[in-house]
Amino acid sequence: MLPLSKNYGLAQKSVRKKWRSDLGLMRKCELIFEGALQQRNKFMNENFVPLSLNDNFRFKCSESVPCFNECCRDLNQFLTPYDILRLKNNLGIPSDLFLERYASQHTGPESGLPVITLKPDYTSELKCPFVSNSGCTVYKDRPSSCRTYPLVRVLTRSRETGQNTEQYLLVKEPHCLGFKQGQVNTIQNWIKEQGIEIYNRMNDMLMEIISFKNRFMPGQLPIKTERFFHMACYDLDTFRNHIFDKGILDDLDLDSETIDNVKNDDVELLKLGIKSIKIKIFGRK
Ligand code: SF4
Ligand code: SF4
Repeated sequence: MLPLSKNYGLAQKSVRKKWRSDLGLMRKCELIFEGALQQRNKFMNENFVPLSLNDNFRFKCSESVPCFNECCRDLNQFLTPYDILRLKNNLGIPSDLFLERYASQHTGPESGLPVITLKPDYTSELKCPFVSNSGCTVYKDRPSSCRTYPLVRVLTRSRETGQNTEQYLLVKEPHCLGFKQGQVNTIQNWIKEQGIEIYNRMNDMLMEIISFKNRFMPGQLPIKTERFFHMACYDLDTFRNHIFDKGILDDLDLDSETIDNVKNDDVELLKLGIKSIKIKIFGRK
């Protein structure tokens, strides 16, 4: 069993209702287009407190809070490719089985890209499949939005320069009692303590290809292209088989070091997946 103390993603109802959106970007407040800033500003005024990296906040979640596990039900949890990589390895199952058992897929109405969400327990308050009476059973590999809570990370991307700008917001929700407990911490420390950096780095790679998609190929993708995108981002074990058994990346002339790296390393495989999407779908290096 993993640690009982938890910090959670934006499973809160208010956030879910307002920000249910394409690719989960709104839910995680990772906004990549300047046009979304207006919407973000409105939402921030109502629920979010913007903080800089050295600002302090007080928060602690533990099994002793009366709201324990409150935020792991009524779920609408989007998963990024790196979230899935970590979860399927935590569970010791291949990506296709993870997707079949624990995830739902639809095509984002705005992005035209595959969107993956965690399949909640429809018979029991839409609970997360990984929550137990004693907390999160996948704690060490919990998704990025779960580990970042009570913060959310806003990522904006300039269309002109392609530069990303990052900002953190504190989500103040009345039902969450974690704000009444614990030590004061800085945002910077929280990011470090919760192991958020690697998630941010990997998720930012996804942002880049979403940005390409919206700029260069708006609307629906051809079905074969959408399938390739899905496999190269989310179904990594199948992607690996297709590379080695079916030669789907033979046209990219991959060097032997890259080939060796992706044989056993899922992170390298995901990086290659994203690179191959850039090249094969968007014609970019
Ligand atoms: S303190 Fe907040 S994060 Fe922790 S269980 Fe309660 S609602 Fe969830
Ligand atoms: S993955 Fe863990 S922390 Fe996130 S919603 Fe599920 S049980 Fe809660």
